[in-house]
Amino acid sequence: MPDVKTQIVLPLSRFYASSAALRRRTAGAARLLVDLVYPARCVHCGRPGQLLCDRCLSEAPRLGRSVCRRCAQPLAIPSLCGSCAFDPVVLSTTLAVFQFGGAIRAAIHALKYSDLRSIAPVLGALLTTDPRFAELEADIVVPVPLHRKRLRTRGYNQSELIGRVVARRLGIDMSPGMLRRLVDTPPQARARSRTERAAGVRDAFRAGEGASGRRILLVDDVTTTGSTLRECARSLLKAGATRVDAIVVAREV
Ligand SMILES: [Zn+2]
Ligand SMILES: [Zn+2]
Repeated sequence: MPDVKTQIVLPLSRFYASSAALRRRTAGAARLLVDLVYPARCVHCGRPGQLLCDRCLSEAPRLGRSVCRRCAQPLAIPSLCGSCAFDPVVLSTTLAVFQFGGAIRAAIHALKYSDLRSIAPVLGALLTTDPRFAELEADIVVPVPLHRKRLRTRGYNQSELIGRVVARRLGIDMSPGMLRRLVDTPPQARARSRTERAAGVRDAFRAGEGASGRRILLVDDVTTTGSTLRECARSLLKAGATRVDAIVVAREV
């Protein structure tokens, strides 16, 4: 018997890929017809109505306050994890709202690999409704950049689409050009250690002059060990940023 992934996730990703392709090619009345034929469906369970239904969302495991404040690794009590305790401060805090899995993984995959850009505002809004969001202080939002080759292939940076909502809610600007990704690092495999992952992104980013004297809020869709966020923060601090925090939809645990 085919597993759940074959039964639901694969047909759904085909559904979103084909509906997104149709939406791109149509406008006006034809577009309305496409919306009628392909109404919004939950990316996880397929139920019609919302891109992420209330039931799937309520079942998605959230990361509370019992985490390392710098890298969001779950801990028994809120403090610093062993790795962060002995590291120089690069990233002041990381706010990760969900554990990466289930409906949240389906939503992020649909955004990145099935061209479902319309789910980015849904994910952005979920960040802003976390109680810890109100504690953030920043002057500017900077999305974690894609390398220009990957940006050309995908056509958009998913972190920038999420960052737009975050910046609007904080009432500050977003600067997608402040940080550049110089090295096209391959998607990092789950099994690799924190040390290997850190080496994979070292010196991969360069920050522009706009960082000087600013408190920066980095935005990304998902983080695994925090290596990419730390490397981004390192470049921004080198360019004169006074403080760097990060907010992500999900963290792998
Ligand atoms: Zn659902
Ligand atoms: Zn940590």
